[in-house]
Order: sequence, then C-alpha cells, then structure tokens
Amino acid sequence: MSSRSSRSNRKNAAEFTLIREYFSGHPSYHSDTVLGIGDDAALLQLPSDHQLVVSIDTMVEGVHFFPDVDPAALGHKLLAVNLSDLAAMGAEPRWATLALTLPESNPEWLKPFSEGLFALAQQHKVDLVGGDTTRGPLTLTLQVHGIVPRGKAITRAGAELGEQICVTETLGAAGYALQQLQQGEEAIAIRHHLERPTPRIEVGLLLREHATAMIDLSDGLLADLGHITERSGVGAELDLEAIPVHPALSHLTTDQQLNLALTAGDDYELCFTLPAELVEGVRQQLRAMNCKMSVVGEVQSGGGVSWSGAWKPVGSGFQHF
Ligand SMILES: [Mg+2]
Repeated sequence: MSSRSSRSNRKNAAEFTLIREYFSGHPSYHSDTVLGIGDDAALLQLPSDHQLVVSIDTMVEGVHFFPDVDPAALGHKLLAVNLSDLAAMGAEPRWATLALTLPESNPEWLKPFSEGLFALAQQHKVDLVGGDTTRGPLTLTLQVHGIVPRGKAITRAGAELGEQICVTETLGAAGYALQQLQQGEEAIAIRHHLERPTPRIEVGLLLREHATAMIDLSDGLLADLGHITERSGVGAELDLEAIPVHPALSHLTTDQQLNLALTAGDDYELCFTLPAELVEGVRQQLRAMNCKMSVVGEVQSGGGVSWSGAWKPVGSGFQHF
C-alpha cells in the first residue's frame, strides 16, 4: 500500500470516529443492556423465559429512497420498518445495531439523520448498542432485537379455516404519496405516510394475545397476505369493498384505489387473522388504543389470495400470480 493511500485511510478513520459520536453517548433504557457501544461487541441480558426476536433491513439510495429525502425522515423510517417487523411478531423492542455506508462524512446529513433515528428510538425505548461505518454509496442497514415471552410470538403460520382476516388503520396512502412524488409533485399532505411510517408496536403486543397469524404490510396486502396463506397452508378470500382505503385516495377510480391499497406497499399496518368470535372484542380493545381495525376477508381452504369482482392487480408488490 502506498503512503498516500495509508494517509488517506488514516484520514478516513478519523472522520469515521467523528461520525460515531453522533450515535454514541445516548442514555440506555434497559438494565439488561449490560454493555452497549464502546467495546468490541455489545453484551445483552435476555429476561428469563423470553426469546430473542431479530430482524434486519437495508435501505439503498435510489432504490428505497430519493436522494433528496429529509435525512431525519430517513433515520425515522430505517428504524420504523424494522420495528414494524417486531410488531408483526408481537415482540417488544429492546436493541438495535446500525451499519452505515456513506459517500462522505457530512454533519448536515448526519445530525438530522441521527436525530430522526433517536427520536423514534426514545419513543420505543430502543438502545443502539453497536454499529459500523464505511465509505461508499449511501446504504443504511439496521438490525433490531426484541423480546417475546417463550412460545408467545405470532408467526405467519397459524391461520385456520373460517377465521377473519383483519388489517389496522387504512391502506394506500404511502403508495399514493410515492406515486405523486415520482410525478414531481412536492406538496403532498399524506407524504408522512411514506416517509414516517408508524410501527404498530403496542397494537402488536395486544394482538399477541389473540391473533393466530400476523404480518406487517411492507409489500402490499396481496403479497403479504399471500405469505400468511403460504405459511399457514390455507387460502384467503378478500372482500374488496371492505378494504379500508385512505380517504386521500377517494377521488381516484375504484381500480386505482385498489391498486394502491393492495399492491403498492409501504403502509406498515398489521394484517392478522382472528377467530370470528374474537373480532368484536379485539376491535373494541384496539379502538381504546385509537387504532381502527377492518375485517377484509376470510380464511378459506385451497391456497393463495382470491376475491370476487372484476379488479385485476397492477403493481410492483404483487408477484404471486
Ligand atoms: Mg415484515
């Protein structure tokens, strides 16, 4: 290695030490974080009779987000999409590790990015316990670790014939916001649905007591419900008229609304199955948490997701037919 490149490597090392300062020194929320950032590895204590729930997501500039997106929103979303996976398991968040690949060390990007990330971490009491930084095209990877009492996690398997298929809140707003942004529209009231999704952690913890199968809606209801039918060995019949389309889409045609609500993805709501006799009780408990719930279909025999009506899906999230 030439002296020139090793000097430049030393410079990079100093730069990246500075970067790490944006992510260390934050308070720890959990006494079971025995050792966080600062050693060779983190040391974490699992509460007795709990299982570790782990999920990871990568976001690449130009693939998962626009180059000019607000860095604070990006920090939020990187953690939010991971927390959404924990919610879908009925897990309680605990820890996160972060791998950043950055083209340059730019405080004007790093500061808001870390603030967006830590604001959501504080809300859900997530300790950032480790990370890595390298130079390259902007790529953000975060891994979350949650806990669940032994045997209590809700998986995609477990849906049974006759059960009701439910979703939280509304669908389609994130996909519609993305479509608008791609068409050059900037002032979009529903933009936060795309850029700052709400992970349904508390709802997931409640549903852990009732749901038989669950998934978070990252790729659109058709694709994600398809994962439940596949893993549960059942079919699903959707009632298209019961899909809770976000009101911002109400001026669109029914076909356009269904395409966005069922195939666009990025909504990060929860889809779950419930025995029919539990539906009203769960609906009331969710209402007490200010969360709307809709029954959108029923578990049937056979496989895959079906519906009656003329609508045919057009969208990127849907790859099952
Ligand atoms: Mg998921």
